[in-house]
Amino acid sequence: MKIFNTLTRQKEDFVPLEEGIVNMYVCGPTVYNFIHIGNARPMIVFDTVRRYFEYKGYKVNYVSNFTDVDDKIIKASNEEGVPASVISERYIAECKKDMEGMNIMPATVNPRATQEIDGMIDMISTLIDKGHAYESNGTVYFRTRSFEDYGKLSHKNIDDLESGHRADDHQIKVTGEEGKEDPLDFVLWKPKKEGEPSWPSPWGDGRPGWHIECSVMSKKYLGTTIDIHAGGEDLIFPHHENEIAQSEAASGKPFSRYWMHNAFLNINGTKMSKSLGNFFTVREVSEQYDLQVLRFFMLSAHYRSPLNFSRELMESAKSGLERILTAADRLRDLKLTGDIKEEEKAFSDEIDEFVNRYESYMDDDFNTADAISVIFEMVKAANINVTEDSSAALRDKYLETIEKLCGILGIKTQKKEELLDADIQALIDERQAARKAKDFARADQIRDQLSSMGIRLKDTREGVKWSRQ
Ligand code: AMP
Ligand code: ZN
Repeated sequence: MKIFNTLTRQKEDFVPLEEGIVNMYVCGPTVYNFIHIGNARPMIVFDTVRRYFEYKGYKVNYVSNFTDVDDKIIKASNEEGVPASVISERYIAECKKDMEGMNIMPATVNPRATQEIDGMIDMISTLIDKGHAYESNGTVYFRTRSFEDYGKLSHKNIDDLESGHRADDHQIKVTGEEGKEDPLDFVLWKPKKEGEPSWPSPWGDGRPGWHIECSVMSKKYLGTTIDIHAGGEDLIFPHHENEIAQSEAASGKPFSRYWMHNAFLNINGTKMSKSLGNFFTVREVSEQYDLQVLRFFMLSAHYRSPLNFSRELMESAKSGLERILTAADRLRDLKLTGDIKEEEKAFSDEIDEFVNRYESYMDDDFNTADAISVIFEMVKAANINVTEDSSAALRDKYLETIEKLCGILGIKTQKKEELLDADIQALIDERQAARKAKDFARADQIRDQLSSMGIRLKDTREGVKWSRQ
């Protein structure tokens, strides 16, 4: 398997630290509001990466945090007049609902920053002891120049960064960071301000900086050196660069062997973000589409390519997905028997080739776009090659393979509506019984109820037929 490693800017063979195990950490959302579909991109992409590793037989330890203390959470808590924890608890719960809707597998652990303060204090103390950090008026800074490899992930030159910083040196004064030895230094611990959540520490009451959170949670749940660290590409600098500096300066060992970053979800060519206000929440999208469509849309592009969100592309994802689900339904409904026939052997072999091609695309840095095109080819072949004269074994092989290849992408091939068929039939039966009993009010009520669910009834000589609008 090959993975594009941001650290080396190359596709590399994936070799896990421990055979058969993948330890991966994915930076999670800051929980001060509903997540938007830009935040959903890394969730969907890296959940798919995880599923593919599992398909390949790896055990995956998947850790993804919630950042539950942050300026934006504190701002929201002040605006609502409730403690910050009320805001973060609420949006963690909402985020989990969205993740379930997008069929994101639950993480092995979902650590929360506020529950890991002791570990952060430990790592900051180690960094101070080793000369990589210093305290000034209750703020602890990382001494960036003390870490030789600074810039290795983002491929930035530290002297260029320094001169960039000098140009806006005046800003440093107004932000109250006068105690910095060097403009490049960044905060590990900040002192308490009135009305903010805080924890006691050797440097006074305060709260951690954002970067230290992930260094500590990754180490605690996955170990000093992990296989994969991932997130959106906006995190490369400074977040991930700073995580590397902190973790490697503290341990003297490599932090993560592979770094994976998804490209942005854009809208009209601009990054979707809360601060620009050009976003749709996952919840909003769920009102118009099954979230499977959103998932399918996201995976229709390679994760390192920018993806533009538009109604047209969502509609095309919807109809593409529908094509797959309809084909799977037709296969399920065929009444067939018997083993693969001689003349079906070539079709059966072709299915194996589809699987091989799908795997070779996924092995090549998780090329879901081309993997999906293989699923479409297979659906087309199944539509043509499986007829009422086919063997059940051939049909099963097509169906099970389509289900398996979709399942790796987190796509369920069972139509959601199909689950409701039995309920619809039960209501229709009840309506018939009501009509027989001359309870027309109840019969009409059931018709209206079905109609509000988008079900149209038609009385025919053969009985009541129904269809979806
Ligand atoms: P945040 O809550 O902003 O820290 O973001 C959580 C995750 O979503 C991070 O991995 C970000 O890189 C990612 N992310 C945020 N906006 C986008 C976007 N428009 N496209 C892709 N990923 C994004
Ligand atoms: Zn992080």
